[in-house]
Amino acid sequence: METTVKAENILKSNGLRKTQIRLEMLQIFMGSKHALSVNDIEKDLKSSHDRVTIYRALNSFEENGILHQTPDPNGNMRYAICSDSCPEHVHQDKHAHFICEECNQTYCLEDVKIPDVQLENGYQLNSISYTMNGVCKECQLN
Ligand SMILES: [Zn+2]
Ligand SMILES: [Zn+2]
Ligand SMILES: [Zn+2]
Repeated sequence: METTVKAENILKSNGLRKTQIRLEMLQIFMGSKHALSVNDIEKDLKSSHDRVTIYRALNSFEENGILHQTPDPNGNMRYAICSDSCPEHVHQDKHAHFICEECNQTYCLEDVKIPDVQLENGYQLNSISYTMNGVCKECQLN
């Protein structure tokens, strides 16, 4: 399916209004193999938008289970598209993330599932992150 149509469908099925920036951002994410930071998105957008607009779009995508947060090497946030559509407000992206030491990109390892853990009593679990570091496929070829 063409990415424009795909992006429109994602917005529609999540009840989000179709705006140029939302469509464009979704297409940027669909075309990227790795997670993207706000800087990356800003660079890839054809027209310039202020950061507030970009953050707002990211927030609504995250709330609607379209994008999830992923780590970067400096503890900042990157975002990646959710694989199987996550339900609203509950992300089920229980996969590991891989940070490449050469290109510094973050990759979703959809097939590497985070194991279920049992916490001792008294701790409430809100999120788990499972990050691995190494050299990605692309960088090993170079
Ligand atoms: Zn998700
Ligand atoms: Zn790499
Ligand atoms: Zn991910």
